[in-house]
Amino acid sequence: MSGRTRARARPERTCVGCRERSGKGDLLRVVLIEDRCVPDHRGTLPGRGAYLHPTPTCVDLAVRRRAFQRAFRVPGPLDTAELQQAVPRATP
Ligand SMILES: [Zn+2]
Repeated sequence: MSGRTRARARPERTCVGCRERSGKGDLLRVVLIEDRCVPDHRGTLPGRGAYLHPTPTCVDLAVRRRAFQRAFRVPGPLDTAELQQAVPRATP
């Protein structure tokens, strides 16, 4: 028994902000509704999803890198206001 055989089948996703892999439960699913990036807190909205750490830093990174355009395969600018409101602010 090496101890490595029982790898947990825990689904992992890559954060579109910082590009680090995390368990699905640690990431916020984001779906595209028209041209709006909408947080899918319950994971029930249909459509292609992007995954993101629910932090202002990762939202910011994703927006700057146009990661949502890439994830959703759309060319235009996207409205991320709802998403930015959904993540807790890092208040000092
Ligand atoms: Zn991240």
